[in-house]
Amino acid sequence: MIELKSVSKKFNGQHGVLKAVDDISLSIEKNELFGVIGESGAGKSTLLRFINALEKPDDGQVLVDGVDVQQLTKKELRLHQKKISMIFQQFNLLSNKTVEENIHLPLEMYDYKHFLPMETVLDFVVLKDKRHSYPAELSGGQKQRVGIARALITRPTILLCDEPTSALDQSTTKEIVDVLKKAHQQFGMTVVIVTHELEVIKELCTRAAVIEEGKLIDTIQVKRKKEQKEFQTYHQRALEVL
Ligand code: ATP
Ligand code: MG
Repeated sequence: MIELKSVSKKFNGQHGVLKAVDDISLSIEKNELFGVIGESGAGKSTLLRFINALEKPDDGQVLVDGVDVQQLTKKELRLHQKKISMIFQQFNLLSNKTVEENIHLPLEMYDYKHFLPMETVLDFVVLKDKRHSYPAELSGGQKQRVGIARALITRPTILLCDEPTSALDQSTTKEIVDVLKKAHQQFGMTVVIVTHELEVIKELCTRAAVIEEGKLIDTIQVKRKKEQKEFQTYHQRALEVL
């Protein structure tokens, strides 16, 4: 479980001090698919980076499974960060490394004992035939699938996604959403996804936090597709759709 307790963060901006995150509290359940939505500059990425301790709040606490991540020793922090993977809008692949080498990178940073075999992740993201290609030779969707494979190989308990589909067209976005959905089903992890695309949230998430100017405005329960499918008579469907 991830708990943010009254977290705030200020930055010195061009026009004085800016409250990037302003007294936000929220809880994300273990294994939940949780969305964070809001305008550009609302504070979404900062909020996400609190979770893997890449950003430190000025005030408030970030608890992961009850542990305050700001109180961790260097060694404990490494263990915490080992359990968290991240995927990015611009994929953040190394251009001079092949698909396979990119996916392997996190295993070179930390000593993982229970990582997934390369064959399994390549298979999972359907990139076996591209294993020796370089990022420049891939489409946007393929690049993001490399990003996802690199995130999954370490078997994370938390997957942070910062605008994972914002650089992609509509059909590729759907493809990536499907891969993320499948990853959650197959491997099980808490997913926190920042996006400005409501369709992505609707497809993927159980709840979404709405952030405006650093403040949490609302947490919305997303209507599940399954519930919609349960409406079988015309009357029930009309009530749902209209
Ligand atoms: P976007 O949708 O454009 O990615 P965001 O919601 O992710 O935006 P953040 O990146 O969290 O927003 O930034 C929130 C605010 O804090 C912005 O006004 C941004 O300019 C500012 N900010 C973020 N990081 C820094 C920093 N390191 N130094 C100064 N200002 C920062
Ligand atoms: Mg951002």
